[in-house]
Amino acid sequence: MDIKNNIKQFHDYLNPNSCGLVAVSKTKPISLIREAYDAGQRLFGENKVQELVEKSTQLPDDVEWHMIGHLQSNKVKYIARFVSLIHAADSLKLLKEINKQGKKVGRVIHCLLQVHIAQEDTKFGLSPQELMELVGLPAVAEMTHVKILGLMGMATNTPNEDQVREEFKGLKVLFDQISASATPSNIEMKELSMGMSGDYPIAVQEGSTLVRVGSAIFGARN
Ligand SMILES: *Cc1c(COP(=O)(O)O)cnc(C)c1O
Repeated sequence: MDIKNNIKQFHDYLNPNSCGLVAVSKTKPISLIREAYDAGQRLFGENKVQELVEKSTQLPDDVEWHMIGHLQSNKVKYIARFVSLIHAADSLKLLKEINKQGKKVGRVIHCLLQVHIAQEDTKFGLSPQELMELVGLPAVAEMTHVKILGLMGMATNTPNEDQVREEFKGLKVLFDQISASATPSNIEMKELSMGMSGDYPIAVQEGSTLVRVGSAIFGARN
């Protein structure tokens, strides 16, 4: 893979669409992440806490580290001090823990709420109804060290592009619905994290502001 060129191509494609690029570096060695960094990439995403922590100590401080995978409450403490965005907040319990750890380290931690949009069984993500309930909870409004900056979703892994598009559209509808409603000051719909290597062009067309791209930049994972 020509990582440098891949990064450049993504930046050229995404910048005019005002869409950011999270380079998903999970399982990839520091040397390859460095290549992306040297090509100007600054946002990197990992889906495992331990790997995220280890890699964060080995790259320059101006890297913004995104936790894109499912996050267990008992692991928030390891990333609270440096994580720049948690993409997959999906329960009140987890948000409470993020708030608690944010308080401890004196940071307001930025989060996205993960919504289950795919026609696939996974344990993760809020249903639209759960999402709407969560953003209306006083307990969330009272969190001083959590800022909810948007939504994240993963479409079904299918060649059916119409289905993928409908799922992204559905997430955008929820995003717009929350944007248009009266929310507390710690909820602000700015980022819509959707799109991966296989479906990012559709996601961008449907209003993504952050794509999470791994294999199309770094090559296939084992
Ligand atoms: C691995 C992963 C990605 C990137 O997947 P690619 O298909 O390699 O682009 C995006 N989002 C999440 C949550 C992931 O775990």
